[in-house]
Amino acid sequence: MDITVIGTGYVGLVTGACFAELGHNVTCLDIDEEKVAALRSGAVPIFEPGLDGLIRRAEQAERIRFVSDYDSAIAGAAAVFIAVGTPSSGTGKADLSQVDAAVEAMAPHLSDNTTVVMKSTVPVGTTRRISETLSELRSDLQPSIGSNPEFLKQGAAVEDFMHPDRIVIGSLDDKAEGTLRNIYQPLLRAGAPVLFTDLETAELVKYASNTFLATKLAFINEMADLCEQTGASIGDVATGMGMDSRISESFLRAGPGYGGSCFPKDTQALLHESRAHGAPSRIVAAAVDVNHNRKSKMIDKIVAALGGEVAGLDIGVLGVTFKANTDDLRESPAIDIIRGLIGRGASVRSYDPQGMERASEVLPSVTFMQGPYDVAQDADGLVIATEWSEFATLDLDRVRNTLRIPTIIDLRNLYEPADVVSAGLAYHSIGRLPALPTRA
Ligand code: NAD
Repeated sequence: MDITVIGTGYVGLVTGACFAELGHNVTCLDIDEEKVAALRSGAVPIFEPGLDGLIRRAEQAERIRFVSDYDSAIAGAAAVFIAVGTPSSGTGKADLSQVDAAVEAMAPHLSDNTTVVMKSTVPVGTTRRISETLSELRSDLQPSIGSNPEFLKQGAAVEDFMHPDRIVIGSLDDKAEGTLRNIYQPLLRAGAPVLFTDLETAELVKYASNTFLATKLAFINEMADLCEQTGASIGDVATGMGMDSRISESFLRAGPGYGGSCFPKDTQALLHESRAHGAPSRIVAAAVDVNHNRKSKMIDKIVAALGGEVAGLDIGVLGVTFKANTDDLRESPAIDIIRGLIGRGASVRSYDPQGMERASEVLPSVTFMQGPYDVAQDADGLVIATEWSEFATLDLDRVRNTLRIPTIIDLRNLYEPADVVSAGLAYHSIGRLPALPTRA
């Protein structure tokens, strides 16, 4: 089928490449001309494991093209997916200006044969409103409208798209449902679970899922605080909880708080919408509050581990992205933590396998190094802020010999305390008691 995907960000580009992999002919449209030019020249503007190869294959098969104008992108498509950004506005409300601009720009080019599908995460009622807008703009059309929220995780986006836990399809009309069923047929045939529902329900499944996961993370972080006060160990608490199939172990990893492009804005948007509809969510409000305080708690933790005062220290921080296997810095806890340390008078040097280019723009006073051992060289303590696998396999003896203050503050629990202290390092982690070196 001929499919157009509007927006070539983390979701749009993965969606386009995966649809091409499923055998469809895909047009990827973005108003960012530089991005489109880069894509056309063979560059992939984001880091996402597996994406590069998928795009190469689609290009060789001539099943994908990148354009920046609506004129050539919409006509003839069986489906047009909207995958533009829906960032948070100042009040927490989702800013739908990119969605509205996309709808307005596509309207003149639509035909009765095209289904418009909302893939962006949008507040309940948005997709129906878009359908009304299209009817106003094009009274000659019978708009066919679907909602198909995306659940991929950055860092495993291709895998998640190709092997989804579920596909949610909301529709206003039989045509939209049929079109989406056909598009996803290869995955449905392979056994992907699917939920067919109405537009509003599909929209809320997405917000409810993200805010629930954010709440789960906020909850386990609170349990980690309790572990630190009681001597219980958060890893085993999470494992023990996760053995209960009603709970499941995923999203029970304590850490520096959730970040990224979705949870922070989606929790805020749900709070805004739930209040606006007179059904405020107190649970999500609490999760947002816990997560907000988490970052200053992490800064306090680092300061305490380094003796109660960091002014004048040169602290090493490993990782700036909001999680491993992405180059995305949006709402990364590492960024807030680094800024907090600098605010308390420390200087910071850092390394990240994928995020440094963008980080050097948002953290101009940070010195970026070539690798983790350069960061550790003469540093006053080493903070692990992101769970990149290369940070989990450091030569601890080497780290011990290069650090000026031989302390690791591991906000991702990548190590067993016994291994770190036996290398002669003090070790502070999350939801576990601090461990002091067993040898000098
Ligand atoms: P993004 O900011 O990475 O990409 C958005 C793209 O849309 C940009 O390239 C931008 O240039 C383009 N764009 C903006 N306005 C446009 C217009 N009028 N016409 C054409 N292109 C336009 O965003 P993202 O992270 O890919 O997220 C997109 C949507 O998917 C959001 O609603 C988000 O909440 C949702 N989502 C994101 C993730 C994720 O992990 N990032 C996961 C699931 C759902």
